[in-house]
Amino acid sequence: MDTKNIFINFFIKKVGICLILGMFFKDVIGQNELKSHLIREIKNEKVSHAQLFLGQSGYGTLPLALAFIQYLFCENKRENDSCGVCASCKKNLDLQHPDIHFTFPIVLAEDKFCDPLLPRWREIIKEKPYFSYEDWTEKIDKKLRKPVIGTDESAQIVRKLALKSYEGGYKVLLIWKADEMNHVFANKILKILEEPPEKTLIILIAENQENLLQTIVSRTQIVKIPFILQSELSAHIQNKFSLESSLADSIASQSEGNYIQASYLISGEDIQAKNREIFIQLMRCAFKKNAIDMINWAEEISQFGKEKQKNFLTYSLYMLRHCLLKNYQMGMLSMLSKEEEEFLKNFARFITNNNIFKFYDFINQAYFFLDRNANPKLVFTNMAFNSMRYIHLA
Ligand SMILES: [Zn+2]
Repeated sequence: MDTKNIFINFFIKKVGICLILGMFFKDVIGQNELKSHLIREIKNEKVSHAQLFLGQSGYGTLPLALAFIQYLFCENKRENDSCGVCASCKKNLDLQHPDIHFTFPIVLAEDKFCDPLLPRWREIIKEKPYFSYEDWTEKIDKKLRKPVIGTDESAQIVRKLALKSYEGGYKVLLIWKADEMNHVFANKILKILEEPPEKTLIILIAENQENLLQTIVSRTQIVKIPFILQSELSAHIQNKFSLESSLADSIASQSEGNYIQASYLISGEDIQAKNREIFIQLMRCAFKKNAIDMINWAEEISQFGKEKQKNFLTYSLYMLRHCLLKNYQMGMLSMLSKEEEEFLKNFARFITNNNIFKFYDFINQAYFFLDRNANPKLVFTNMAFNSMRYIHLA
C-alpha cells in the first residue's frame, strides 16, 4: 500500500463512525442551482403532484428528494433550508413522518412489502445518504438476490394513499429506484397518476428514463439531476476526508461528478490498486493479441458488482487521458501514483490521435450498456477485443 492510501485509510477510520442525516439542503453536495429551483417551487406553491427525479444515485437524487420533502413539510421554513427544529422536521429527521411513505426494491423471496424493511432503510440513509442499488442489495440480502418493486407492494400503496393525511397537509409517496418496478406495480402507479388523490405528492427516483413506461414519464414533471461539479465534489471530499487538494481533485475528476464513485475510490478497500491491476492486465493481453487471456479477463471483471465495473471504466478513461497528457508533455502526472507512472512510461506511446477517440467511444458505450443492465460478460469481452484492435492502430 502506498503512502497515499495509508493516508486515506487513516482518515476513513477517523471519520467512519460519523452519522450524517442527508435531509437538509445544506447536506446535499453541490447542486446549488437545482436546490434554488426546488425551494422556489415550494415557496411559490407550484409543487407539481408527480415528479421524477432523474439521475445517477451518486449525483444525490435521494438526498435531494429528502431535503425537498423536509422543506415542504417544515413549519418554519428558512430562506434556503428547513429549520430542523419544528415538529415536522424532527419527524423527518428520523424518517418517521406519518404522511411520508417510502417504497423501494425488496427481495421478493424474503419480503412482500416494504414496511418490515423500514428500519434497514432508515439505517442505510443515516449511515450514508449516498448509496447505490448494490449497497442496498448488500444491506438487505446476504445472498445478493435482485431486489424489485413488486405486485404486493402496489396494493399496499393504494391503501396508504387512500387514507387521509394524519396531519392535514400533504401525503407523500417516495419511490426510490423506480427503475426496478415490475409491470404490475408500474401499471398501478400509472393509474394513480391518471387520477391522483388530493394533496398527494408522488416522487419517483430513477437512474434511467428508458427503464420506465413512457406513459408514466409523460405524466410526471422531470427533475433532471446533473453530475456534481468537479470543484464542488473536490471541495467536499477535501473537507470531509481531510485530503490534500491535488488528491481530492484527482479523485473528483476520476469519479465524474458521482459521489458514490468518489467514496469507492477513497474507501479502505484499495479499489484504485485493483483498477490499475486489471487495466494493466487488459492492455497487456490486448497488446499480445492473446484471446484466451482476454476472455479470462472479461470473465473475471464480469464477476464484480456493477458500481465497481463502472468505476473501472471511468478509471480506464482516466488512464488513457493521462497517456495523451504524457505524450504531449502536459504535466499533471503528479496526480498519478508511482505504479501508474511506471506503467505509463512504456505504455503511453500506444495511445495517440489515431486511437484515443475510438477508445473513448467504446468505453463510454460500455458504460451506457452496463447502466442499462447489459450482460457484463459481453460488454467486457467486447471491450477486450476492441482494445486489441485499437491498440495496434497507434
Ligand atoms: Zn422545520
